[in-house]
Amino acid sequence: MTATEIASLRDYVSHDHPVVSLYLDVDGARFPRRGDYEAEFSFLVHEARRRARQELGLGKDQEEALGAGLSALGEYLALEFEREGARGLVVFSCRQEDFWRVILLKQPVENKLLVDFKPRIAPLVESLSGYEHFCVLLTNKEMARIFHAYDGELAERSDILDQVPKRHNQGGWEQNKLQRWHEKEVRIHLKKTSDVTFDFFRAERFDHFAVGISDELWPELEKVLHPYLKERLAGRFNVDINANINEVEAKLFSIEEEERRRETQELLDSLGPELEAGKNYVGGLDDVLAAVNERRVDLLIAERGFSRTGRKCNACSTVSFGEETCPNCRLDMTPLTDVVEEAKELAVRQDARLITVPPGHPALKQAGGIAARLRY
Ligand SMILES: [Zn+2]
Repeated sequence: MTATEIASLRDYVSHDHPVVSLYLDVDGARFPRRGDYEAEFSFLVHEARRRARQELGLGKDQEEALGAGLSALGEYLALEFEREGARGLVVFSCRQEDFWRVILLKQPVENKLLVDFKPRIAPLVESLSGYEHFCVLLTNKEMARIFHAYDGELAERSDILDQVPKRHNQGGWEQNKLQRWHEKEVRIHLKKTSDVTFDFFRAERFDHFAVGISDELWPELEKVLHPYLKERLAGRFNVDINANINEVEAKLFSIEEEERRRETQELLDSLGPELEAGKNYVGGLDDVLAAVNERRVDLLIAERGFSRTGRKCNACSTVSFGEETCPNCRLDMTPLTDVVEEAKELAVRQDARLITVPPGHPALKQAGGIAARLRY
């Protein structure tokens, strides 16, 4: 999943044809059999149709098209879908416009089946955030490999490395001379590797950096690593230099998860004082919705499962918890089953980050379960 693909999903708007967005938890640990998540899907279908009827005001043709689209999705799940180790499945589909996109995620997603005239991308963007832009360097004393991860997709970029050749047999040298020669070669190799990685950083501006290196060699690399790279170091791991890309991906995934946990914890720790200062953050549904309407949200943080009914203006997308008439254009607003979900969708379309946390954090609880960091 690349930023361009996300942007193309975000910009896709159908013309009068309902677009279905399916998020399904297909984690093999919890749903070992196909029938398990098929049952979940059937359960979601009923509720999705009810909500679409209420919120989108579909005509008879549109209702029928939606029904056919949902049946096709059910058939796909029953007959075609192969899990292949994925834990989350995302499908966007609009049959009338031949629009069909399947995305397999390494992370589980919360089950949702949403109908709108555009793909509902908020849960996808949330799943992928924190996995944005990583550089992974593998190195030993003689060789190096470099990988680039962007929006969860890892690719090897060792083509940019000019590798130090393998050591030749230096028969006849005294042992200590050979040792010194070898140590010098290793230093040259690590310096070169570090320089190329820094050039790569200047070209790609990745956010985080991870290194696969032995504990023994790490202090040597650390000595020559550019401060910008050290600053971005998210983790270090042991791996064979010839590891295949899946092994590297698994190592990276746990570093990313750890990085995400750390960031979320930092955010939560600062939330109380920030809300009290009342400058950069707002708390509570009314203020958060106001900030969303003003397009000021930079980050939205909510308790898992936090949802409220509300309303939306179909003309200008204003969302509200209490109003029945749009304060912006004075039109009647449409009732929504979940105004929080709508706010999240609007927020990601304003390039905001979303973070969902388990309920129970004191500052977030005091804010009523939802808060937002403002852009200005
Ligand atoms: Zn309006």
